[in-house]
Amino acid sequence: MIKALAVSSMRLARHHTLIFHRVLNEQDPMSPDEPTADWFRVLVKWLAGSFEVISLEEAVTRAGNHRQHGPTVSITFDDGYADNFLVALPILEEFAVPATFFVASSFIDGGRMWNDSIIETARRLQPGSYSLDGVNPSSFEISDWASRRHLATAAITAWKHLPLQDRQDKVDTFSSLVDGLPVDLMMTKAHLRRLADSRLSTVGGHTRTHPILAALPDDVAREEIISGKRDLEEWLQKDVTLFAYPNGKLGRDYLRRHAEFVKEAGFRAAVATDWGTMDAATDPYAIPRFTPWHTNLTRFSVDMARCHFGLI
Ligand SMILES: [Zn+2]
Repeated sequence: MIKALAVSSMRLARHHTLIFHRVLNEQDPMSPDEPTADWFRVLVKWLAGSFEVISLEEAVTRAGNHRQHGPTVSITFDDGYADNFLVALPILEEFAVPATFFVASSFIDGGRMWNDSIIETARRLQPGSYSLDGVNPSSFEISDWASRRHLATAAITAWKHLPLQDRQDKVDTFSSLVDGLPVDLMMTKAHLRRLADSRLSTVGGHTRTHPILAALPDDVAREEIISGKRDLEEWLQKDVTLFAYPNGKLGRDYLRRHAEFVKEAGFRAAVATDWGTMDAATDPYAIPRFTPWHTNLTRFSVDMARCHFGLI
């Protein structure tokens, strides 16, 4: 009943863009909030049956033409995780649902994002006592999954806003405590090419190394945006026309001038992580996104509706 109400109350001409990062084969004790394949299948089936699910590209075109037969929904993924191709794509194909995959190009073919290096190190630490440079508390007792998650979260929070080299040095020192960190977390070029060949998929730019653009000198920020696009276009032999800002909050992670750089680089639209929905009045270089975190369809749909009406 609530679900039906939530869906029918959205029969207004707004477009909702969902954001995902990973879809795991099974629940991971280090990342218990990441969606699993089982939940993603339930969700995609519901979306396909309740909304017109269109590509982000189509949504941008419709908004530009003031043509919108709401409610419409798009699915997007950020960063370029291998599970997007291996786990999510088969489910999207099963329900013929399109999606856009924003890829930070430097991690393709064996790379690893800094936060994943921390999570994967914390997963592998021998039980015992550890202290990390600049992280509170000064000592962590590693035993169960909760203690490993606690350490990883504390390190990510403490190091997130450090200058890039300083952060990488700290991550490298921490990572050297363990062996065998994974090199298959992100997509390969072969994955990307097969993704780009699927008629349901679009590959978008997400910079080369996933920096916080607002923290960079302008020339470096511009080069990150341009080189990420150039890498993907060279590998895929296709125009890359959509962009997602790393971290993605306007005023904190990217500024108005970065939207100009994105436009000058030849992208036709860009997505943020500010919460909201899109209509014809939305700036195509600051498209908001929102994904409810509930793994329960009723609560998920209620939060989608609340977002639709600006209540969240
Ligand atoms: Zn990202």
